[in-house]
Amino acid sequence: MIHMMLHFLVPALVARLFYANVWQRACLVMLATMVVDLDHLVATPIYDATRCSIGFHPLHQPWFILIYCLLCIHKKTRLIGIGLLIHMLLDSIDCQVTNGIWVQ
Ligand SMILES: [Zn+2]
Repeated sequence: MIHMMLHFLVPALVARLFYANVWQRACLVMLATMVVDLDHLVATPIYDATRCSIGFHPLHQPWFILIYCLLCIHKKTRLIGIGLLIHMLLDSIDCQVTNGIWVQ
């Protein structure tokens, strides 16, 4: 539950701190990156609280995370990249808390 709350609170906090003038728009863009979790739909079971997403789900692979880093370079894709990296970081922290690993 705390994990899901952080998926909303951290992007909102980053938006308020670093995009003060357009924080609502910035927050929405970063929250929209949660669509990356649609890759859970191809897993069986779709949701498993004890499973580590990082390295398991297709869009949570380490080489995809590298692409998310690259998205941060260009101004037009930066918020998407930041949102995705926040998401991956929170998922990885969740892996560490629940399973003692950062990556599956
Ligand atoms: Zn995820």
